[in-house]
Amino acid sequence: MGIKMKARYPKPKCPNCGTSWREGDEIYFQKNKDNTKCVCVDKECFIEQGGTMSDKQSIIGSRNDTIVVKLPECEVSDDVKKLTEFEDELFTTAHHKMKDRYPDEPVSGDRFGRIRSQYVGQLIDIKLVYLLTKILDKE
Ligand SMILES: [Zn+2]
Repeated sequence: MGIKMKARYPKPKCPNCGTSWREGDEIYFQKNKDNTKCVCVDKECFIEQGGTMSDKQSIIGSRNDTIVVKLPECEVSDDVKKLTEFEDELFTTAHHKMKDRYPDEPVSGDRFGRIRSQYVGQLIDIKLVYLLTKILDKE
């Protein structure tokens, strides 16, 4: 199974596709049992070399596949609209907090997105505990 990582060395030319990358670029890397390596900055080339990525990443890779969604017909109530506003606030907070905490992580990157959504989940939990404590204090 391959991983996505920052290149430790620059590569002037991939022997398979000819692309070059610099030290620190995100590359796909896999060490095989026979000690050969699959490595490229380009995911398709990496897979052509026999590399594999985990299911989660291949789902992202197959994002062009269509899925059928049936939206139920309903009015969105003000309560739900308030909830999504509340989520927007937490998302924005999480974005800035994680940007400060991981200054080297590109914000458009896959990994930053995962860190951020995990943190949004944590913020929701924190907010729930806070709200519950407030309610219990009143009783
Ligand atoms: Zn390549």
